[in-house]
Amino acid sequence: MRHIAIIGSGPAGYYTAEAAQKLWGDDVRVDIFDSLPVPYGLIRFGVAPDHQSIKGVYRRYEATSLSDNVRFVGNVTIGRDVTIGELQEFYDAVVLATGAPHDKKTGIAGEDLGNVFGSAAFVGWYNGHPGFASLDPKVSGKHAVVIGNGNVALDVVRILAKTRDEFHGSDIVNHALDVLDHSKVAKVTVLGRRGPHQIAMTPKELGELGHLERASPRLDPADLPPESEDAALDPGQRKSVTLLRGFAAIPEADHAAKAIEVDFDFFASPKAILGGDDRVIGVEVERTKLEDGRAVGTGEIYTVPAELVVICIGYQTSPIPDVPFDEKNGRFANEEGRIRPGLYCVGWARRGPTGTIGTNRPDGFAVIEKIAGDIGDGAGKPGGDGFDKLANERNLAVMAFDDWKKIDEAEVKRARDGAPREKFIAVEEMIAAARG
Ligand code: NAP
Repeated sequence: MRHIAIIGSGPAGYYTAEAAQKLWGDDVRVDIFDSLPVPYGLIRFGVAPDHQSIKGVYRRYEATSLSDNVRFVGNVTIGRDVTIGELQEFYDAVVLATGAPHDKKTGIAGEDLGNVFGSAAFVGWYNGHPGFASLDPKVSGKHAVVIGNGNVALDVVRILAKTRDEFHGSDIVNHALDVLDHSKVAKVTVLGRRGPHQIAMTPKELGELGHLERASPRLDPADLPPESEDAALDPGQRKSVTLLRGFAAIPEADHAAKAIEVDFDFFASPKAILGGDDRVIGVEVERTKLEDGRAVGTGEIYTVPAELVVICIGYQTSPIPDVPFDEKNGRFANEEGRIRPGLYCVGWARRGPTGTIGTNRPDGFAVIEKIAGDIGDGAGKPGGDGFDKLANERNLAVMAFDDWKKIDEAEVKRARDGAPREKFIAVEEMIAAARG
């Protein structure tokens, strides 16, 4: 019998569990740990609340959880409640599938001013993550700036631009909806340090911006490269750039008919975030030009007004005590998923925050192949029984999958009209719901 502990119950964790089941059938036991009482990580707290069809992938993870040889072990924080070393005593392999829950920093002045947020925090706030529920962003100013040209920037723009009606059917949490209801934001400037050909936005997500009830996307046609150059782009990127060309051609009268303008400012690198009375008032930007694909400053400086700034430039993994960390890339130091014999990483914790949810599936299968080569038939370790004994001794309030199903049921029951659920925000509320 092989015993595998997976740390993190997001997509990478569940695909790894699925791969272990596929390879070893009944000859493996998998425990999936999460620091929260609720599973699914990025699916619950990262994927946008108005992208319910993407969230539907949880059904696949639920099927894995309901099989006899996989357990969900919630409300246990590795590094605090139990160490990696202790887990390695119990399990033949420990796999870190902890994602990349922390914001990368721009390193520019003013990043810590009031009403400036990283996307991990801002997304966590509207998705009801317990760690970010008290963020309290202010949307009483007219100008918001979103830094970055990736899909997370698009999520944030959409959330700032949508009406309450447009959130129908989403699971955006009530505390966010109530704040956004009173938003005075009339202009969202999206700063991209490079140009339209270098965006990291996918066509489906970018296309949604063209269909918003009260917001209209615009950009300066002069920022677009000659159309003939689009032919060199890969098909997905070409579609995205074609959408931008469409935005650039929207007539002024159509923009004027909408209350919110979403302004793509390309070749615009943030130099400093400016503040007054501890709150942000603007972003100082340097115009750039491309040299060998890189953004190079031109010396032209200007200021974009902003009473709210959300920085969406990517994420990094949280270090864990005694686990070697690759500071430069913001992930665990590893070779093709192996950190050291018996300790592995997978998904964003292995390769950084890139790719789609599905990219994590081959990742999970690859790491299980590697583990199979390292652990053979298993070393007769105690597995989950060993952990349970320790959890008992330490009085840990471990949450099982059945507990999550009770939380799930209570969240569905208290949903506002049309919403799939109203999430519990506090861990104590989740535990109380599990205990009825
Ligand atoms: P991302 O795709 O890596 O985009 C990050 C953006 O930030 C890039 O435009 C990058 O520009 C810019 N940037 C980085 N450092 C910067 C700096 N110092 N100053 C200014 N701009 C800077 O990251 P993400 O948007 O966080 O998304 C993470 C992953 O999740 C991606 O794989 C994304 O596709 C995925 N995701 C998917 C969906 C969906 O499918 N619906 C939704 C959300 C996220 P450069 O290119 O110049 O570096």
